[in-house]
Amino acid sequence: MSECPTCERDDFVSETGMKRHHTMAHGESLVDDSPACDCGATPSKDASGRYREQCDDCIHAASAATETTPDERAAFERRLAARFEEGEQ
Ligand SMILES: [Zn+2]
Ligand SMILES: [Zn+2]
Repeated sequence: MSECPTCERDDFVSETGMKRHHTMAHGESLVDDSPACDCGATPSKDASGRYREQCDDCIHAASAATETTPDERAAFERRLAARFEEGEQ
């Protein structure tokens, strides 16, 4: 069940239906105004005033996930070396 944020009508079967109602009844589209991140949060705007594709939390989590610590890097290289030695036998 979705509720219209403007008139508080809440008998819409889906959020898409509610947004369609908002566009028709209130003359303002909810779709383009505030895109939702995959996690449901609203992304912040960048320097040019456009919404980012992901919220700050997800952008931060994604960049943190690609960073590896020296320990992880060393473990990865050990595994790689072990696999290489196995292949030679
Ligand atoms: Zn409404
Ligand atoms: Zn997010």
